[in-house]
Amino acid sequence: MGSQEVSNADWQGKHVTVAGLGVSGIPAARVLNGLGAVVTVVNDGNDERSRAQAAELEAQGITVRLGDGATLPESTELIVTTPGWKPEKPLFAAAAEAGVPVWGDVELAWRLRGQDGREPAPWLAVTGTNGKTTTVRMLASILEAAGLRTAAVGNIGVSLLDAVLGDEKYDVLAVELSSYQLHWSPSLRAHSAAVLNLAPDHLDWHGSMAAYVADKGRIYEGNTVACVYNVADGLTEELVRMADVEEGCRAIGFTLGTPGPSQLGVVDGILVDRAFVTNRQKQAQELAEVADVNPPAPHNIANALAAAALARAFGVAPGAVRDGLRNFRPDPHRIEHVADVAGVTYIDDSKATNTHAAEASLASYDPIVWIAGGLAKGATFDELVTGCAGRLRGVVLMGADRDLIREALARHAPEVPVTDLDRTDTGAMSEAVCEAARLARPGDTVLMAPACASMDMFTNYNKRGEAFADAVRALAAESA
Ligand code: ADP
Repeated sequence: MGSQEVSNADWQGKHVTVAGLGVSGIPAARVLNGLGAVVTVVNDGNDERSRAQAAELEAQGITVRLGDGATLPESTELIVTTPGWKPEKPLFAAAAEAGVPVWGDVELAWRLRGQDGREPAPWLAVTGTNGKTTTVRMLASILEAAGLRTAAVGNIGVSLLDAVLGDEKYDVLAVELSSYQLHWSPSLRAHSAAVLNLAPDHLDWHGSMAAYVADKGRIYEGNTVACVYNVADGLTEELVRMADVEEGCRAIGFTLGTPGPSQLGVVDGILVDRAFVTNRQKQAQELAEVADVNPPAPHNIANALAAAALARAFGVAPGAVRDGLRNFRPDPHRIEHVADVAGVTYIDDSKATNTHAAEASLASYDPIVWIAGGLAKGATFDELVTGCAGRLRGVVLMGADRDLIREALARHAPEVPVTDLDRTDTGAMSEAVCEAARLARPGDTVLMAPACASMDMFTNYNKRGEAFADAVRALAAESA
């Protein structure tokens, strides 16, 4: 990562505690150690894997305390935490008492920009309950089409520390930020940022919807050029109003309808810009066709508009927006077309791990045989079921919390046939697909958009999506 080239006297001898071994903790500990800081890693767990990781770090001169993530090491001057650690942990209470600042991995990367003497690349940042990864990838694709050196970073692709300290020189970064990361990023100042949408998620971590929304809103703090909000989601606009931004920074809306001044929107199947034009009262600039968006489902057009708004805020020309959207290929398991079997289309939206995401894909097809269920994470399903009841041909339920969905279906869509799979072994997915095929008629879509997390039955949503695709391919082979 080139950290050996980074030198900054500020870090020499500074006592830094890294909270949590793991994907962000280990690289943070290494980088800080390379900068001359005295690093102690504290970790709750003390299993075989963490012992092996600890041994590697200790060989580099880093102290690791396993099985003790609660005690603040003496003389700590700064904590760099894994973003997933909850704010109410005793370690943070001890830090607050001792006046020790706490940064997340993003804040660390932000502060290390330019340490090597290079002009740091500005950040175009994206958050929201759903669509972050898609939007950031679309944005990177647009920036690339404009000939800019860029990368999709943050929760995806290149790690932020690598992007900031590595040998690669970037003109601009497309940064995905989670609500946890934003919580721990007090001084982050993006060039421009977008909040795509806000629906209840991760409330167990944040404690309340208000706290979750407030953390998302931090992304707008100190923006210099544009705060991009969703016209259809009033909360996102309210966050822009509350943000303390640089003089001259503009609020830019995106909408699936006709855009007003300072908005991007859609007119007659064309994505248009009424924000970054010379006369926004009278002029609109054509950017791309709806058909250039991949897939052109409504929520994804919204993602494309948000990505376009950020790119336009950075000065990208309309032609590059179109080319970038055309070049974009969605990541697996996000409304992914698997196969058509006997006139029925099979779609894998395993990434729909919450009701808001499932709502978006359920709105994109009609009629649907819906495969749903898994870990509900405290969600309720009444609203989701009410919204799609009229489009459901049938439902196949599986997973730990399927009762919650079945009860919502009984309340709001009692006439829809439901098959309930009372098994949680991984083979259940094959049975689910067979049951769905039985319920479907030619022209229907079988949509696996579980509205739940996968960990009750699968390692992660990727594995769940692969199990679905395997089962569909087996079905296709059988019927061939
Ligand atoms: P994230 O990185 O925020 O989890 P992804 O782009 O990976 O978002 O998409 C996650 C899920 O959300 C997918 O199932 C996708 O179908 C759905 N989704 C994507 N964009 C949106 C949106 N703008 N609104 C609602 N759901 C969306």
